[in-house]
Amino acid sequence: MPLILCEHCSIAVTLGQLPDNHKASCPRCGHVLTRAYPNIVDRMLIFSISALLCLAISTIFGFVEMSVQGQERQVSLLDTSSRLAQNNDWILAAISLLVLIVIPSIFAALLAYLSFSLKIGQAKNSTIRLLRAISFIGFWNMCEIYFLGILVSMVKIASLAHISFGIAFYSYAFFVLFLFAAYMHFDKYQLSQLIKKSISTQQNKVLPNDLA
Ligand SMILES: [Zn+2]
Repeated sequence: MPLILCEHCSIAVTLGQLPDNHKASCPRCGHVLTRAYPNIVDRMLIFSISALLCLAISTIFGFVEMSVQGQERQVSLLDTSSRLAQNNDWILAAISLLVLIVIPSIFAALLAYLSFSLKIGQAKNSTIRLLRAISFIGFWNMCEIYFLGILVSMVKIASLAHISFGIAFYSYAFFVLFLFAAYMHFDKYQLSQLIKKSISTQQNKVLPNDLA
């Protein structure tokens, strides 16, 4: 029976196979140890690829259009970083580019890669390390905080200028939602069990050929 360690109180708990839509909680502190989502791989794959597509769309089209005293100006998602770089705020430009585009896109791409590897049954021992990498990047992913910050600033600007949201704004909103949905299904215990199952299936397929 596989063991799972509670992240809160460090107790080791033996877990059997969980039915779909069930969760297991720590007997000592009540912390949720794992959740068994149905079709976890398919869902993660669809949500992460949808997130990547939405992010790509949001970098192409206009994010927001502002109109003040007859003067109109369109701002794109990448303008945030490029304007800061033009003002020689290189560190802020790099941070905004990392938070907005780079970290979320790596995060979504790794989730897509992980679920695709499992979908085609090609998970390897190194895929277990990928789970740790995704957890680490997930900790630093702040795109939803950035998006909330934009909404708050838009409310303030709305009293000074006429604002209309472009395709990129809605696309980025969907990106945040899809990425959240993909990460919601990222259950390290369930995925590590699927990775082990995939590796043992591959080994069982190889063995008869080797013997022949
Ligand atoms: Zn616990």
